[in-house]
Amino acid sequence: MQNKRTEISEVGEFGLIRRLTDRFPIRNASTVMGAGDDAAVIDAGDKYLLLTSDLLLEGIDFDLVYFPLKHLGYKAVVVGINDILAMNGTPEQLTVAIGVSAKFAIEDLEELYSGIRSACEDYKVDLVGGDTDSSVTGLTIAVSVVGSVEKERIVYRSGAKENDLVCITGDLGAAYMGLHLLEREKRAFAGNDNPQPQFEGYEYLLRRQLMPSAPTTAIAALRTAGIVPTSMIDISDGLASDMLQICRSSSCGVRIYLERIPIARETHKMADELHADPVVAALNGGGDHELLFTVPLAQQSRIAGVGGIDIIGHITPADTGAKLITPDGSEITLTAPGFVERQ
Ligand code: ADP
Ligand code: MG
Repeated sequence: MQNKRTEISEVGEFGLIRRLTDRFPIRNASTVMGAGDDAAVIDAGDKYLLLTSDLLLEGIDFDLVYFPLKHLGYKAVVVGINDILAMNGTPEQLTVAIGVSAKFAIEDLEELYSGIRSACEDYKVDLVGGDTDSSVTGLTIAVSVVGSVEKERIVYRSGAKENDLVCITGDLGAAYMGLHLLEREKRAFAGNDNPQPQFEGYEYLLRRQLMPSAPTTAIAALRTAGIVPTSMIDISDGLASDMLQICRSSSCGVRIYLERIPIARETHKMADELHADPVVAALNGGGDHELLFTVPLAQQSRIAGVGGIDIIGHITPADTGAKLITPDGSEITLTAPGFVERQ
């Protein structure tokens, strides 16, 4: 037994996961990919099964002061589905486990489940089980999603190659700005007997935070265009962190052009109001539920023909590192909180 105490901050979240999952050799031939990608990959004969789990904790991942339970249920499903999409797969089943404290009435939980039901309808997934227990610390939601993908279409984080184009679905930073807006109004609410929330003109930001959707249309469009990305990840922790995950898994570097990062008009406007930098929101904000992927340079014109996708940079050799290029051409090394370099 060791007496040494190591703080999680010394290795970061990803260092912690690596350390915990390090000494688990794969024992079954059907286990194709264990921890380390967006979903585990299991050989099911003619195709691969995909399995992912996500945990949402009250006070950490959501605040029920402004997060309606129905939207929360929907979002919990979207979070799981995105990990299946990030493997280029199709989500099929999900289980939901909840820990519930006494402050919730049955009607509250029915609200939560009406959101889960609505997401199940939209994304054609089946709720096939879960678990229910009591909690002393508010609401806990654990979602596991199962999906599948044809073997030749699977996409890992590790396949990016030099000169590949770095692509992104949707726009970034809006969910984070939506969160700031909600936090601002919550503070105004606390000190006011007759609060009037100032949300007008920012509906898009609120939608991105409270009613996210999974980029299933982008995945379908890539399929129609005959494009299989060389690598892919869902953007859950901001572009910087997830780009670095691809670089690490693929042993490559990257050049991302700042002015090419898609940022919505409302995100710029809110950032102006808060004296914040919208690019920082895109890089480090998180919660956007978009996909970051790479395709061979030769597919540039095909990608341009697929709507709703932006090319933001290209893959470089590992020794050139991960760089952001500012509009005046200067280079900034890409870093992310929670991402401590390999110890
Ligand atoms: P995501 O953000 O895509 O949900 P994470 O960053 O949470 O993924 O996790 C990265 C990888 O580490 C995934 O493959 C995940 O399954 C695995 N992982 C995360 N936490 C644990 C854990 N406590 N035990 C085992 N594997 C884990
Ligand atoms: Mg993921």
